Amino acid sequence: RRDTRTVRDYIRTIVDFPHEGILFRDVTTLFADARGFRMAVDQLLAAYAGEAIDKVVGLEARGFILGGAVAHQLSVGFVPIRKKGKLPGAVISQAYALEYGEAVMEIHDDALRPGERVLIVDDLLATGGTAAAGISLCERLGAEVVGCAFVIELPELGGRALLEGLGHEVHALTS
Ligand code: 5GP
Repeated sequence: RRDTRTVRDYIRTIVDFPHEGILFRDVTTLFADARGFRMAVDQLLAAYAGEAIDKVVGLEARGFILGGAVAHQLSVGFVPIRKKGKLPGAVISQAYALEYGEAVMEIHDDALRPGERVLIVDDLLATGGTAAAGISLCERLGAEVVGCAFVIELPELGGRALLEGLGHEVHALTS
């Protein structure tokens, strides 16, 4: 019998993680399944078929897993954007607002060259704050952001509207 499961079917929801009242979309079950993981990576690749992409930029931490696979398949380099204090070399930093307080993301200051065309990858788009910080870091290094790709978007949190409002193309496999 043919397997008709879609990407969405491999994602599990964990109730009350990391706090009470949060429904956390858990992609470890997608990544752990050979068919599911391949389907997700192939669908991300299909969305950018024919686009010239020089580098894939992954957002810590699950963006590394997806972005690494996408970069490998495109035969381009992979660049991590990490939380403050994790990258060993010289960095530039970008602060962004969280629900309570703020966070800082960093990229190595020599990781992208002016004019390079980059695809930003992460597992999930919620408010868009993390991705917007990622876009800003890439652009501050002179790179051109070709698109922002996610497995999941939570449309009610406004991330797509934020990123599209900044002039960026957003692609998500499921909501
Ligand atoms: P945003 O900045 O868009 O509000 O939040 C997106 C970031 O938080 C992403 O890096 C994503 O990995 C993480 N995130 C927020 N909520 C969830 C969730 O329910 N599941 C997963 N897997 N990641 C989440």
